Amino acid sequence: MLKNLPVPTPLTAPYWEGCRAGELRIQYCQVCERHQFYPRSVCAECLGSVDWVAASGKGEVVSYTVVRLAVSEAYAEEVPYVVALIRLAEGPQLMSQVDCEIEQIATGRSVEVYFDVWSDEVTIPKFRLVS
Ligand SMILES: [Zn+2]
Repeated sequence: MLKNLPVPTPLTAPYWEGCRAGELRIQYCQVCERHQFYPRSVCAECLGSVDWVAASGKGEVVSYTVVRLAVSEAYAEEVPYVVALIRLAEGPQLMSQVDCEIEQIATGRSVEVYFDVWSDEVTIPKFRLVS
């Protein structure tokens, strides 16, 4: 059984290309000088045009859950694992897996991105705790 794979669209393709290149890409609005994530065709604040930029990959855990029941057999060997809401240093928040011992996760913990290569086409951003 296979894991659920992302299906890039014209809007999200730069994000997935960035992951393959080892870069966490988010959007930036030159008009109101703010970052945004998830990808949108225009700035959600001012409707200005947005550019893709490389984020620092650093952030902080805002909230989290521990997944103890695999959604399918493809994930059976991974449980339990942590899924967290992460506020990036640039401001936007994203949901991702944090690779750590369950006992180590807490809100406010600092994290940084790394990239988990699943295939030639699919690279998934995940996070690790940093002290
Ligand atoms: Zn804007």
